[in-house]
Amino acid sequence: MIQEQEAHAAEMERTFIAIKPDGVQRGLISEILSRFERKGFKLVAIKIVVPSKDFAGKHYHDLKERPFFSGLCDFLSSGPVVAMVWEGEGVIRYGRKLIGATDPQKSVPGTIRGDLAVLVGRNIIHGSDGPETAKDEIKLWFKQEELYNSPSLASSSSPSRN
Ligand code: GDP
Ligand code: MG
Repeated sequence: MIQEQEAHAAEMERTFIAIKPDGVQRGLISEILSRFERKGFKLVAIKIVVPSKDFAGKHYHDLKERPFFSGLCDFLSSGPVVAMVWEGEGVIRYGRKLIGATDPQKSVPGTIRGDLAVLVGRNIIHGSDGPETAKDEIKLWFKQEELYNSPSLASSSSPSRN
């Protein structure tokens, strides 16, 4: 039982965050990274990718019936995206708080979209909306070996120094 609890504690929560092409083009990468970093969350993966429209469609598959779906996929695949995985207690829900509401007009000041964006179709950042989507999105965007695993969480079978 204690072992089970310890194993559970070691499985730290992770979320998928992406700076969309408008955020990259506007020079907001460091501004956005610093908000997550200063909060105390840990960056465990980061890369720049230009997703294909087909890949964008996979990422936004739950929105495929919406009228803006095609335009949204065109936009996500229009330039470089900074894809990231952030780790920390409560990072999925709190990451969404840092980001703000989907429509920047409804995002409160102090949030990323509230401070830095105006239009819903150009809202600069994506964040997973729950544990299942976080898991699926991390798997879609990253290979397991691209995720940094903290040595403190490594198993006791890690090689010794001598
Ligand atoms: P998010 O999780 O806050 O990013 O919002 P959703 O998952 O509901 O939508 C995904 C993305 O689709 C949003 O970030 C917006 O960029 C875009 N989007 C959502 N609703 C609308 C809309 O009504 N019009 C347009 N043009 N884009 C939208
Ligand atoms: Mg969403």
